Amino acid sequence: MSEPLKTGLRELALRLAAAPAWRERLASRGFAPGDLLAASEHADTHATAVRLLAPFPGLTRADLAEDASAWLSPRVDELPQLHPAWSSGSSGQGPLAVPRFDADVAHRQARMWEAAAAGGISAEALCRGAFLCALPGRPEGRAWLDVPRSIPVDRISLCRAGWEDRLRACGADFWNLSPVGLAHALQSHEARPLPPPRVVFSTALVLEDALRRRTEDAFGCPVLDLFSTAETGPFAWGCSAGGAFHVLSGGFLVDVDPEGLRVTRLGDSPLPLLHYRLADHATAALPGCPRCGHAGPTLVGLRGRTRSEKGEHSSAPRPLPAAAG
Ligand SMILES: [Zn+2]
Repeated sequence: MSEPLKTGLRELALRLAAAPAWRERLASRGFAPGDLLAASEHADTHATAVRLLAPFPGLTRADLAEDASAWLSPRVDELPQLHPAWSSGSSGQGPLAVPRFDADVAHRQARMWEAAAAGGISAEALCRGAFLCALPGRPEGRAWLDVPRSIPVDRISLCRAGWEDRLRACGADFWNLSPVGLAHALQSHEARPLPPPRVVFSTALVLEDALRRRTEDAFGCPVLDLFSTAETGPFAWGCSAGGAFHVLSGGFLVDVDPEGLRVTRLGDSPLPLLHYRLADHATAALPGCPRCGHAGPTLVGLRGRTRSEKGEHSSAPRPLPAAAG
């Protein structure tokens, strides 16, 4: 029995049991939260757990759009940690402010480190970070990541003049940014070199192979392509051989379904996600990777969006809009 899998399913079941809307939805299909606990006892592997949970109902983006608060299951002490997070609507249902808790942010960070470790990058080597934002109007400032230890991360807007100097000054050894931002940073680097990071986390849009290779050549570091949504956080990362995504199996179950992926987030989140339906599709989920030999669950044929909210192609360098002030 996989203990993290079992524990994660138990924690999810307890959160579902505490939310009236979830109890009602489970009952509509003849289930109770206790049935999820029972299923967890027999879930030896990711594939077995996916099969056991397949008949359970899930949550859609339309549910969250209608009344997100109905699907929350927070403890009283978690309510001050609740913040709205912007989700762009690329999954089909328009832009949406989704609830996000500090606990979910910690989960998101943990998954980022898990992907780094799986990619051969020691978390101990990552001491400072930079979130490089290519969307205008986003605030700058310093935040702290607390997983696995407290480290500073500077949020820097690529739309504000002087961002290169702010990036140089912060000494980040990892970057987190979208392919739009990455193409912009590469263009700047070719004009005047930027200090190379140890790893680049690419998020939000499809990372084209050509852009990944250019980045690896320019900085001599790996680029980890995180497949992520605002609701779930990162749940898979791109295979270094290309053509596949590896599921972060300690934190998620991912089910390939003709109508779109279904993502179950394991663990103790105030926003429990059982079979959360995405508009993204994959052709198959395999127990291992046919491209690199990775032993964990792997999605083949997964393709996310390649254009930003405004329609720009993800890997085309372009001037970014200037920020006011
Ligand atoms: Zn692989």
